[in-house]
Amino acid sequence: MKIQVHIHPWTEEFLGMFPDYLIERYNRSYPGFTNPRPIDDLVEDMDENGIDISVLLPIDCTVSLGKKMSNDSIADMVKKFPDRLIGFASVDPRAGKSAIFELERAVKELGLKGLKLHPSLQEFYPNDKQYYPLYEKCVELDLPITWHCGMGFGMRHITADPIYVDEVAFDFPQLRMNIAHAAWPWHENCFMTCLARDNVYFDINAWRPKFLPPRVIEYANTVLTNKVLFSTSFPEFPSKLVVEQWQALVREDVLKKSWEDNPIRFLKLE
Ligand SMILES: [Zn+2]
Repeated sequence: MKIQVHIHPWTEEFLGMFPDYLIERYNRSYPGFTNPRPIDDLVEDMDENGIDISVLLPIDCTVSLGKKMSNDSIADMVKKFPDRLIGFASVDPRAGKSAIFELERAVKELGLKGLKLHPSLQEFYPNDKQYYPLYEKCVELDLPITWHCGMGFGMRHITADPIYVDEVAFDFPQLRMNIAHAAWPWHENCFMTCLARDNVYFDINAWRPKFLPPRVIEYANTVLTNKVLFSTSFPEFPSKLVVEQWQALVREDVLKKSWEDNPIRFLKLE
């Protein structure tokens, strides 16, 4: 069984959530990067690469940007491929109580299974106590959170250090959390949190694995074998290349943990 935990549906609605300056930056650096892809392309890519399940993540930037990808669109995609896709919700923490109501609706009415938060694009510090009611709701609904952490091309970075997530992990030991992208260049902080807290995982999304810092591979192969989560970054790089490079870098038992055992525990699929 192969599960990838961090896929953004590359649709027009998702791409439309980015501010213009970022789209311009992406187009300049990676021509073709912002061409939309229907969700069927993702499932086809999963078939070609032996990936059974993808976790789909929207982003809601209502307060910071006045834009979002809706939770309803994610639910529609899951409805189309219920055996292949798991949908997370996104809400804008800065929207206050309405964010909590929307999260509850997304879970109870739309059947979404987790929460994606993006401290860079949503412009908030995760450890700010004003957001704690949102995390309490996640505990009540038993939802895992995936946090964008680390570098994002052209984005603000000040809030993307996982040191802020660490405090949330300490205050909510029952809340399962994933620090995305190994939080580079704050990967040491990411490892610290994953080591110190039973409830924290990290993913390797948006990396061509051979360019991952050697420390990430070292930790994945030793003390964090039970914490590392696999994901390609479809359609950012060819998934075949991501799978092959990852296979070349970590041991057989770690491979299985990264795309099967650890995601099953993080998502509570048992
Ligand atoms: Zn992401």
